Amino acid sequence: MLAEIKGLNEECGIFGIWGHEDAARLTYYGLHSLQHRGQEGAGIVVASGGNLFGHKGLGLVTEVFQSDTFDALHGSAAIGHVRYSTAGGGGYENVQPLLFRSQTGSMALAHNGNLTNAIDLKLSLEAQGSIFQTTSDTEVFAHLIRRSQASTFVGQMKEALSQIEGAFAFLLLTETALYVALDPHGFRPLSLGRLGSAYVVASETCAFDVIGATYEREVAPGELLIISGEGVRSERFAPEQPRSICSMEYIYFARPDSHVDGINIHTARKNLGKQLALEAPAEADIVTGVPDSSISVAIGYAEASGIPYELGLIKNRYVGRTFIQPSQALREQGVKMKLSPVRGVVAGKRVVMVDDSIVRGTTSRRIVTMLREAGALEVHVRISAPPITHPCFYGIDTSSKEELIAAKHTVEDICRLIGADSLAFISQEGLLSAIGRPEGIPHRGQCLACFTGQYPTRVNQTTRPCMTVK
Ligand code: SF4
Repeated sequence: MLAEIKGLNEECGIFGIWGHEDAARLTYYGLHSLQHRGQEGAGIVVASGGNLFGHKGLGLVTEVFQSDTFDALHGSAAIGHVRYSTAGGGGYENVQPLLFRSQTGSMALAHNGNLTNAIDLKLSLEAQGSIFQTTSDTEVFAHLIRRSQASTFVGQMKEALSQIEGAFAFLLLTETALYVALDPHGFRPLSLGRLGSAYVVASETCAFDVIGATYEREVAPGELLIISGEGVRSERFAPEQPRSICSMEYIYFARPDSHVDGINIHTARKNLGKQLALEAPAEADIVTGVPDSSISVAIGYAEASGIPYELGLIKNRYVGRTFIQPSQALREQGVKMKLSPVRGVVAGKRVVMVDDSIVRGTTSRRIVTMLREAGALEVHVRISAPPITHPCFYGIDTSSKEELIAAKHTVEDICRLIGADSLAFISQEGLLSAIGRPEGIPHRGQCLACFTGQYPTRVNQTTRPCMTVK
């Protein structure tokens, strides 16, 4: 679905490269392919001549960077970031990578995820004299490194990493090395690749494909990689834990051409559609998916049910960030500008409409209405996620519990509220078996917390998820 109208938003995408003379430009291409993970801001920092230089701004990657931007970004190592602002809110100062300069050297930091104990740590650091430049939870990590008494930089990083909780995929660049760390539960995806003799790291493997890099392996939960002129060294900063990779990466966030922890996203979504067709068949004439993430699911549903797949909804790709936000009265129109029904396809038909999730229910209601106005005789809604009943504390802005329609209403109620003829969500077991991660560990190594309320880590239930650190 369309993130900006859904109320379900990814926080960030990160990309790093070490050992290539065109590091900044390759990072730009990598970030461009990760744009779906955040559209609020983008930045790149390069290491060059014993120093770090960066450029960042609010907006899309293509808005922030022009060709002459790269004249000042020479260097053989770089990290980049695309941001969706939740933790800490928007604003230029929170756009990453964050760049810190000190007498002992500079470092740049890019983070995907959300630190669940950031507020407590920040209060404690402020009490010890730290002054923060941003309202982002990411800056807490930099202060912890600087305050560490460990004798080596790797030791300082490990000490800092052991104090933070929640979801984090970090890239940290200094003049001499690129450091890569993934939290002990591995909530967010992070892969390592090669481009000739250079090393690349990215939130999703689609970033490797776009620059011609080859996939090497996943960064393991609790692993710290040190990439330098001496190659790659792997260390651990936390013991191995069962993985809890975010289920929504498979359902919604990642690009269909990416592999997340070894599983192709398009294939996983097609299997979700097949599973949905088994669990919730419908008497209908056509199956359609809400673009983009649900197209693969709809294809799977059609294949398993024998009902033909049709392009019943079209996404307008040119509604940019700068589009004037509609007034309250025009919000309904706003969805129509982003999504249109194909009247010639849906008119006079019983339609299965496949979508990835229902958060507040408002978007689903609008799409069902849109299909009916275009002449659909019946609209049967099938959802490839279980009902979202709990907020996320790990970097996905799922709204607060009060706003989640499934936290307060039964499936029958939701069906009525969105105006559908029938509604079904995939089961939790169906979700796990369709994605097909290996058996033998709890939930096949997936986080299901927003469907179950069982959080893999300690969370502060009194704070708003992904809340501003102030
Ligand atoms: S709570 Fe939901 S959205 Fe958050 S990490 Fe877990 S599965 Fe993903």
